[in-house]
Amino acid sequence: MPIARVALPVAAPTTFDYWIPEGLAVERGAIVRVRLGTRRLAGVVIATASDSEVDRAKLSPVVDVVGDERVPFDVLDLCAFVASYYQEAIGLAHALALPPLRAQAASRALRGSCRLTDEGRRALAALPARARSACGLRDRMLQDTALDVDTLTTHEKTILREWRRHRYVVPAGERAARPALELNAAQSEAAAAIAQSLGAYAAFMVNGVTGSGKTEVYLAAADAAIAAGGQVLMLVPEINLTPQLVDRMRAARPGLRVALMHSALAAGERRDAWRAAASGEAQLVLGTRLAVFAPLPSLALVVVDEEHDASYKQQDNVRYHARDAAIWRARRRDVPVVLGSATPSLETWLGARDGRYRRLDLPHRADARAQLPGVRLTPHRAAAAQDGIGDALRAGIAGCLARGEQSLVFVNRRGFATSLVCAACKWESQCTRCSARLTVHRQPPALRCHHCGHEERLPRACPSCGNVDLVPLGLGTQRLERALAAAFPRARIARVDRDSTRGRHAFASVRDKVEANAIDILVGTQMLAKGHDFPRLTLVGILGSDNALYSADFRATERLAALLVQVAGRAGRAGSPGEVIVQTDFPDHPVYTALLSHDYAQLADTLLAEREAAALPPVTHAALLSAEAHRREDVDAFMHAAHEIGIELRTLHAEVEVFSPVAALLARRAGYERSQLVVQSARRGALQRFLPAWRERMEALPGRRTRWAIDVDPAGFG
Ligand code: ADP
Ligand code: ZN
Ligand code: ZN
Repeated sequence: MPIARVALPVAAPTTFDYWIPEGLAVERGAIVRVRLGTRRLAGVVIATASDSEVDRAKLSPVVDVVGDERVPFDVLDLCAFVASYYQEAIGLAHALALPPLRAQAASRALRGSCRLTDEGRRALAALPARARSACGLRDRMLQDTALDVDTLTTHEKTILREWRRHRYVVPAGERAARPALELNAAQSEAAAAIAQSLGAYAAFMVNGVTGSGKTEVYLAAADAAIAAGGQVLMLVPEINLTPQLVDRMRAARPGLRVALMHSALAAGERRDAWRAAASGEAQLVLGTRLAVFAPLPSLALVVVDEEHDASYKQQDNVRYHARDAAIWRARRRDVPVVLGSATPSLETWLGARDGRYRRLDLPHRADARAQLPGVRLTPHRAAAAQDGIGDALRAGIAGCLARGEQSLVFVNRRGFATSLVCAACKWESQCTRCSARLTVHRQPPALRCHHCGHEERLPRACPSCGNVDLVPLGLGTQRLERALAAAFPRARIARVDRDSTRGRHAFASVRDKVEANAIDILVGTQMLAKGHDFPRLTLVGILGSDNALYSADFRATERLAALLVQVAGRAGRAGSPGEVIVQTDFPDHPVYTALLSHDYAQLADTLLAEREAAALPPVTHAALLSAEAHRREDVDAFMHAAHEIGIELRTLHAEVEVFSPVAALLARRAGYERSQLVVQSARRGALQRFLPAWRERMEALPGRRTRWAIDVDPAGFG
């Protein structure tokens, strides 16, 4: 009897067998519905077989096949790789590749007015006359440059939506096509190198300073891939980045058929994008990390933009790294992959140094008039008395305001202050559920834990001694915003952090205001660091970055360097030279001297040498076991056992080091006591052989009260 082997979205280490009722066409890649216990679940068929190891009488049938979508074989392979490499449940890994199933076709909200594109004019000229409504609609649009959508009937709106999908119509306000930019020498060289390698696996590191025009390089390489009938997969780290990038691409390549994939889309839109990718209709699939699982029958090129960005690593559920998955997929499909950044990750840097990746440099800003910004380091401690804004920064902002230019002040902490302290008895605002301080918020007023979400009223007096002299310590965005408003009462100030941008369109609206020159000073966290291109922004102030130098995380300096370069890169674009003022008390630290001399390469070499000396990733390969339980003794007992097993397995896996368990940097979170343990090896393969053996033995441990997980290539140890 024919059997379907189904990967179901449950945390089980296996697939499940079902028999295939006669007449049901079930093949590898099909999405099927089945029963598991009392539940009905949808999963993907990863294989069919003529027989099962399970007793036939115990098998259930496949209930039905969902739709006609198939998960392509290379994506199935990718999911299997992700499950095995990251030590994750096979069904959960495969769930990443499923399109949203229950979704209706997207009701793509059409509002305002629409116009026909040139492509639409051409394609719709051949409409058969019997398609009366469609012809009528087309003719009205040919006469009217901007048709008001609200005047249409429901049927006409359906037609319009279909046309929208094919980009025959676009919103009337959408940016007009921009004349193609002429690539500079470095850009054309890079694009040509990538284009020449189409048709086979090759990996490139595009190391281009901020504003060097990496996007144009990706587009030129994509042109070559698409001209040959291929599809391009482009990954970006942030949802916030996609609309601006899409606008830019549409302006640069008006006819390009782009499908967007990210988690903030409605299910229907995601399903449409999935289908457009699967049918080959989408030439470019642009999305966040999940898009690496998109079906792409004609995949010809993979691009990972801002490849250093930490958000490519999923931190829960299936802990995969989308950049590394993208490289794997490119290799599997035998197509080139491009890893672009102004601050390449040390993983990528090492790959280029070892010759696994070809290095392409874009050392100058693309626009010849735009210089890299001048950087100044000024003392931070002296600025503390002025709510963080030192004299140099104050003068800089005043100058910007006088010239009608914009400034950005960056501090990587949201809220008002990092904690509240009693001046008399040293009481400090502590979270009751975490080993962390509560952050002071003023808008709205509260004490909040940034780790578990716990919230308390802001006390008027010290809960311990009654003293009313409570001092907020440390600097957050809200405090900075207030200080700036006091110093520059007439300036228009906008704050951008996770608190201020909760609404779906809040961030886009700030960006529009900046573009419309309706904002003078931006205050915010790293949300402001990435990719935004603000031509009138000429001054960037960076505060509080020294905090990262105290971090115990081995990646902290690398992260800080990337953040500083990216934030500094916002200053000065076409025509207006920029300035960056960094308030630091450690001006001799390599991370700051690199910023001064715009020499990330030098810093990356230094950091890599440090990792080499300390035998840390990427020079070695590591996995982190983290565990948590309500009671400290439970988690300690589990970790002790896990450590013993690890040590025991070393007799077979001598190349793997097993470190002792330690309390996590945040030893308690949301009422759970947390510990962690690092295992590592100089050889990836050795670690990969060790991990499944270790995991199986841990799964057999009785520790029911402990939750644990293995994180392969962890973002940090903590
Ligand atoms: P990056 O991603 O490397 O920081 P972008 O791709 O955002 O840089 O490009 C920065 C700016 O330079 C953009 O405004 C872009 O339009 C412009 N630009 C890119 N290439 C060229 C070029 N060859 N000539 C003129 N301007 C360019
Ligand atoms: Zn007190
Ligand atoms: Zn907490």
